[in-house]
Amino acid sequence: MPMPTIEFDAQDYRADQSFARAHYRLEGDAAHGWRVLRDGALALELGPGYRPLRVRQCGVCSTDLARHHLPFPLPQVTGHEVVALDEAGRRYVVEINASHQARGVPSDCAFCRAGLHTHCPERRVLGIHDLPGGFGPWILAPVGACIEVPANVPDSAAVLVEPFAAALHAVHTIAPRDGDKIAVLGPRRLGMLVVAALAGVRAQRRAAGGDFAIAAVARDPAMLHLARTFGATETHQIGGRVAEPADGAFDVVIDTTGNPDGLATAVRLARREVHLKSTHGQPSNGLRHLTELVVDELAIARFPSEAPATGTSVWERARTGSWPRIAWLAAVPAPGWLASMADVQRGDAAALAQHYAAASDGLPRADVAVAATPAQVDAAIRPRAGHEQALVRPRGTVLLHAAAEVAGSPLLAAIEARDLRLTSSRCGDFHQALSLLAADAELRRIGERLVTNHFRAGELTQAFATARSRACIKAVVDHEANAS
Ligand SMILES: [Zn+2]
Ligand SMILES: [Zn+2]
Repeated sequence: MPMPTIEFDAQDYRADQSFARAHYRLEGDAAHGWRVLRDGALALELGPGYRPLRVRQCGVCSTDLARHHLPFPLPQVTGHEVVALDEAGRRYVVEINASHQARGVPSDCAFCRAGLHTHCPERRVLGIHDLPGGFGPWILAPVGACIEVPANVPDSAAVLVEPFAAALHAVHTIAPRDGDKIAVLGPRRLGMLVVAALAGVRAQRRAAGGDFAIAAVARDPAMLHLARTFGATETHQIGGRVAEPADGAFDVVIDTTGNPDGLATAVRLARREVHLKSTHGQPSNGLRHLTELVVDELAIARFPSEAPATGTSVWERARTGSWPRIAWLAAVPAPGWLASMADVQRGDAAALAQHYAAASDGLPRADVAVAATPAQVDAAIRPRAGHEQALVRPRGTVLLHAAAEVAGSPLLAAIEARDLRLTSSRCGDFHQALSLLAADAELRRIGERLVTNHFRAGELTQAFATARSRACIKAVVDHEANAS
């Protein structure tokens, strides 16, 4: 039996930020893998575990607008926020990380086994890294990553499930406590969905007798007004001629500004925790690798001054039964109590990274790094130039020693002096996002509230120009409008 083939024209995104039409041919099937041909030449070979889906809609996100800055090959058909259809017309949203687990292929990948499949080092990423994306009419979706959309969730909300899941993951990471005041700094394209996710979680909390407040903090009064419709319980303008919120006005501040200056504001306004949702790729707060910190979903916190009680966080035996692996980068010696609760390796970050890479069990990374300078924090995030690998594991922690030299970094100074904690998050769980949307009629209106512009698939140049403008909050590309 001949392998199925799918042929279509799509707009490639190129390194010079322009679009160019190309003819694509997909040959293969889920069991045998795929060959992707661009204008008759082999562009990509994929192993098994991908199924073709026809794209109905695809959202334009900030990652698409900054795609030329990312370290993945171009040209590529981009777009990763998709609603797509199978041969029977069923609607799906698609988790973007094509890991071993998402493809359902056997492997001995330590990351997929540890539940860190969104950090699988061998993953491709839909519409971002290699895999043709949703600005074209067909995608190859990892078979285990296609999640059917509940009947009561409209396309307008389904097309936002990818960023909404990321927003919900941020809310679960900060885990609001009753009585907290949670601020979203700079709500706009993604940040407005963080407000919505907070509102969805708050509604559940209130039904159970608890509550927390949701504050929107922005320069633009129009965004504050919009944030109210998404469920903000209070709004605060900054940068105008109005009184600014006081230092430490909020328990947690989620920085969604996408701007290197946003973090210093978040640090000033936060009492307990700053959650970073920005990947602008630029230095900030004396650190070079904060974007990579978000990519790896790392946290920075203060090293405890005395032995922590058992039952707390990173000091527990990992599920494998082994002690946590601690990479000690600080010049001062490790305290005596640490050796009784962890496997401590002392040295330079690049050498320690190689040491852990050779680990025969568990993840080939440290669980925690202890740093005492901004340079050591950076080295814990990216110890070796040219290697996109952290010293610490995904969702691991960098602890800042009390003897740290933190001049030039308000963030590290606040961690040291006030025990502030920095956390970060990236992709979220689509099942959780969809079940929250299916259960909450207000939340299902996120699309009508956020999407300001619709484009046909042939209008990508215009869609991107509009998406960059202040007038646009969220743009969506619609394939079926193009097919008439
Ligand atoms: Zn996105
Ligand atoms: Zn894997």
